[in-house]
Amino acid sequence: MHCLWCDQEIVNETHWGNVLLPDRVKYLCVRCESMLEKLDGALCVKCSRPVKQGGETCQDCRRWEKLDQWKGALKQNRSVYAYNKGMQEMLAKWKYRGDYKLREAFQVDFQASYRNAFSSDLRKHAMLVPIPLSEERLYERGFNQAVALIELLDKSASPLLSRIHGEKQSKKSRRQRIQTENPFSIVETTDKPVILIDDIYTTGTTLRHAARTLKTNGSPEVYSFTLVRS
Ligand SMILES: [Zn+2]
Ligand SMILES: [Zn+2]
Repeated sequence: MHCLWCDQEIVNETHWGNVLLPDRVKYLCVRCESMLEKLDGALCVKCSRPVKQGGETCQDCRRWEKLDQWKGALKQNRSVYAYNKGMQEMLAKWKYRGDYKLREAFQVDFQASYRNAFSSDLRKHAMLVPIPLSEERLYERGFNQAVALIELLDKSASPLLSRIHGEKQSKKSRRQRIQTENPFSIVETTDKPVILIDDIYTTGTTLRHAARTLKTNGSPEVYSFTLVRS
């Protein structure tokens, strides 16, 4: 087995700590695995952003909840990794340069965080809805990273949303983005809770548009689960 990031051969070290454990398949070498920085410590209860004290809600989330049209739209976001330099490079290679297999490196943490983040009852009943890409973007990339992440959970994706506008919005300010029109339309309604899946939570605008679309179409509550919190 070669490291999915640096391509060096992975040497399985047996020592007293793991001699009794079944061999877990390693996708990254020890050095590259250290690029993955799991979010822990004190996190915003709503969006997983690191905060000073546990139990806090960050300033951004407090701002969202003050706006009538967004209040309660997204119940909670949970993320797995911090957006450090290594993760920026990994996401770029995975998403934009089509290194589909790189997702395997995230699987163990992604599954474990998913089980930790959501109650077994919610996991049993919720629909997993991928944030859709536009057709052009899907064609360019060859896959939707959100669907690829749902597959890592051994679950099937429920494509309840489709995208109606282009999605180049990185050059706009946060304010402009909040005011942008909803890029989603509903394909199929549900009366079940939804967990939206995407690779990254940045401002939370995209996820909130998706959440609000689902809620106005019958879903009682919408959460999101993202690989990275930027
Ligand atoms: Zn490596
Ligand atoms: Zn927050």
